[in-house]
Amino acid sequence: MTAPTTAAPVVEVTDLHKSFGANHVLQGLDATIHQGEVVCVIGPSGSGKSTFLRCINLLEQPTSGSIKVGGDEVNDPDCDIDAIRRNMGMVFQQFNLFPHLSVLENCTIAQTTVLKRSKDEARAKARENLEKVGLSEKEDAFPAQLSGGQQQRVAIARALSMDPKLMLFDEPTSALDPELVGDVLSVMRRLATEGMTMFVVTHEMAFARDVADRVIFMDGGVIVEEGVPEQVIGAPTEERTKVFLQRVL
Ligand code: ADP
Ligand code: MG
Repeated sequence: MTAPTTAAPVVEVTDLHKSFGANHVLQGLDATIHQGEVVCVIGPSGSGKSTFLRCINLLEQPTSGSIKVGGDEVNDPDCDIDAIRRNMGMVFQQFNLFPHLSVLENCTIAQTTVLKRSKDEARAKARENLEKVGLSEKEDAFPAQLSGGQQQRVAIARALSMDPKLMLFDEPTSALDPELVGDVLSVMRRLATEGMTMFVVTHEMAFARDVADRVIFMDGGVIVEEGVPEQVIGAPTEERTKVFLQRVL
């Protein structure tokens, strides 16, 4: 949760555009995420938040513009996309765990197949992260035996087990029953405190206010307002931000 402005940029986005057919969804975004920074993206449904996040890890191909991750231009044909993706952990609204694998196996499979870690090493790393998310005792359970909040915490442990340099979250608590939201947010707060670089699309305004170093308000495919939470959430200057916040706060 510290944002020294001198920290190296982990992600630099310049004039990012993305269209789906005639639908010009992202209309020129500029953003920088520095090492150790927590950036929260807020905005109405359909404003392009998920598309923005998905362009950063190249689940969507940008139409134009530049995205640099760790200084490498991801749009460059010579760029090793897989290597870049390995540095990013992604947590979605839907947890996307492998239903036929145990919690522990969910957290080891990519380590052994992608990172070529030994089974022992992968298990040790997985257990370390399951402990971090408070689920050590569930390592032999299968996803269907867990609550939504527990499944999402497994998804976070699984992503962390790949030792990402950046964690991307797309509304990680939106599919959860209200009483399960807090546990997931606590895990995310802890990650932030430990210095993880995080890019979080969220509707949880209290989380954004307390944890974010910077808040980006998006509407209609553009960044309308950006700044520290005290400014963007506490004292927005743009009319569109005010209207949005009146609806969600
Ligand atoms: P948000 O996450 O802010 O709700 P999205 O990024 O999901 O917004 O969507 C922004 C716009 O992009 C919407 O109009 C949506 O229909 C469109 N869109 C998103 N993904 C796709 C896709 N894969 N194909 C076509 N249109 C898409
Ligand atoms: Mg979305």
